[in-house]
Amino acid sequence: AKEIGKACFKVFNNKMHTKVVRENELERELRDAVFNEELAVYYQPIVSVREAALLGFEALVRWNHPTQGLISPAEFIPVAEETGQIVDIGEYVLKEACRQMVKWQKLSTNNGHLTISVNVSAKQFQSSRLVKFVEEVLDETGLAPESLKLELTESTLMRNARTSIRTMQGLKDMGIRIVVDDFGTGYSSLSYIQRFPIDGLKIDRSFISGGAQKENPKIVQTIVALAKSIGVEVVAEGVEEQVQLELLKAANCESAQGFMFSKPLDEKEITRQFIMDLEN
Ligand code: C2E
Ligand code: CA
Ligand code: CA
Ligand code: CA
Repeated sequence: AKEIGKACFKVFNNKMHTKVVRENELERELRDAVFNEELAVYYQPIVSVREAALLGFEALVRWNHPTQGLISPAEFIPVAEETGQIVDIGEYVLKEACRQMVKWQKLSTNNGHLTISVNVSAKQFQSSRLVKFVEEVLDETGLAPESLKLELTESTLMRNARTSIRTMQGLKDMGIRIVVDDFGTGYSSLSYIQRFPIDGLKIDRSFISGGAQKENPKIVQTIVALAKSIGVEVVAEGVEEQVQLELLKAANCESAQGFMFSKPLDEKEITRQFIMDLEN
């Protein structure tokens, strides 16, 4: 038994070691990535559930690594969050996404209403310069504040509720909308959420991908009902199949995003498939 225990420990240790080495490597390389323009912003369409009409996009960062190819944000965002590099990355994504949205809005008069949703990490949200930075970006790019939505997770909001509310109010005073991301996965009680000046809830993918199984339809219905009762909009993420869309229709969920409509695409593909194609 002792031998087995030792062997297990060794394997575990090696795995941990590999993970730490990988993270150190990532941290070092991430430092250059922003400056070498290795980061790219992809966009995923958000559509209305009833007509599948285009409402806007969510900006999602990608890292085009010189030797390893595309690295998923799920891998490098946690590292960047830990090292604080997320602030630079987040600012880059925000600026790039706003600049791009202005271009798309100008391409057709029909695009004027389209919104751009940008993820804001906990560190970025807590940085004292966020409100000022957003203001500068809107100024520089000329994007209307109503076109911008910022996505924050429940845990980001809960970290320091009082400060969060103040920052959110600063953003809302500018006319920006705030959406709670991955809603339903955090610790916040449903009633607690109404203390925050939010404009929307995004239902986490885990409640959608389970489809009609188990408690999922009930949870989706409850979140939609909650959103309506506090007067905010509701989006579902991770919609892949028709049955899931039917579930959202039945629950009266207004908008959705997911592979069923489109995976996240680069600027060129979005322009080709979703912007130039819109009828004038
Ligand atoms: P998220 O904000 O919840 O973004 C949605 C994720 O779900 C994206 O993964 C998207 O590609 C994926 N997704 C969309 N539709 C479907 C679907 O139908 N099925 C499945 N299986 N997945 C779908 P992605 O792009 O890999 O991003 C992962 C996470 O990384 C994001 O989750 C977000 O937390 C973080 N992230 C991405 N970009 C940024 C950023 O610019 N700033 C910050 N702070 N975080 C970011
Ligand atoms: Ca998001
Ligand atoms: Ca999400
Ligand atoms: Ca998610």
